Amino acid sequence: MTASVTVLVAAGVALALALGLARGFDVVAIIILILIVAVGGLGIAAARRAGSGTVTPATCEECNGLISPNAPYCKHCGAQARA
Ligand SMILES: [Zn+2]
Repeated sequence: MTASVTVLVAAGVALALALGLARGFDVVAIIILILIVAVGGLGIAAARRAGSGTVTPATCEECNGLISPNAPYCKHCGAQARA
């Protein structure tokens, strides 16, 4: 989620920069650039906040069971977690 938003913002900034360079950075290009950076920054912050609350489960290398990424060993087969 965060990565896709970042890519979208980067693409928008690149597009605005390319437009600005091609047309000589008129007021419209600068306004578009500022809008993209502002909206993109909000989007990235929102995506970060949404993602920080969830813990992505890890997969045991031995039995492929879902385990906590912080667990020292697998709760299914007892294999030691290799971080
Ligand atoms: Zn296991």
